[in-house]
Amino acid sequence: MATSCIAAIEAGITEIAFTDHVDHQPNDFGFGYYRIDDYFRSLEDVRKDFRNRLTILAGAEIDFHTDTYDAVERFVDANLERYDFTIGSVHYAAGGELIYPPLYDTMTLDEVLAPYLREVQAAVRSGWFCSIGHLDIPKRYLPKAKRTYEPADIRDRLQPVFRAMIESSVGFEINTSGIRQAPKTSMPGPAIVRWYADAGGNRITTGTDSHTDRTIGAGVPITLEMLRLCGVPAVMSFRNRVGTPVPVDRLLARSAA
Ligand SMILES: [Zn+2]
Repeated sequence: MATSCIAAIEAGITEIAFTDHVDHQPNDFGFGYYRIDDYFRSLEDVRKDFRNRLTILAGAEIDFHTDTYDAVERFVDANLERYDFTIGSVHYAAGGELIYPPLYDTMTLDEVLAPYLREVQAAVRSGWFCSIGHLDIPKRYLPKAKRTYEPADIRDRLQPVFRAMIESSVGFEINTSGIRQAPKTSMPGPAIVRWYADAGGNRITTGTDSHTDRTIGAGVPITLEMLRLCGVPAVMSFRNRVGTPVPVDRLLARSAA
């Protein structure tokens, strides 16, 4: 965490949330790894060490899948109040792991996306999350031959998700890792942002999905510029899971300075 905080300050970031994965799928690589007390001990250490230099938020990227609903609910009931910011992420759908490219060999993209977006909608309705992680994540793992993904293809499928988001005061992150990875665009990209804003949504956050200090802050300035061009005036900042809008123009002026 300390290394990440130094990287954040160097990247001109003023506020960071450590959203470690909390995984509930028993066959997942990360299952059983999360140690909440160690997490909060480390967080308190960096909060002390970087006081006045960086705002450090308690966060978690909690997996959400209807087949492990009870386990996630137990975790949330016991711990939700300790976090400033929670991301709900769906990593499995259509009988497989979304980050496993062969999943897409036997199915069309829509056969994966339709059940995936139903899971996302259930995550939104759960009331446990501030933000949904990497909304169009399947595009990151599409085999090259199938990289024909067009956001317009799922526009209709997104409308009920947006409605649920707006009714439940849940937003989504612009996950900048897609810019530096195969899709070469954020997850989601500008088209989906625009449709969400047109539907009345206004709860967007930015996240770099950094699993290393090397990528902290990566893609954030260009993402803020994208949001401005999409007519999104503010991104959300969270304390105790309550969001406050921060003007994009103010952040852009900072990053230009
Ligand atoms: Zn994730």
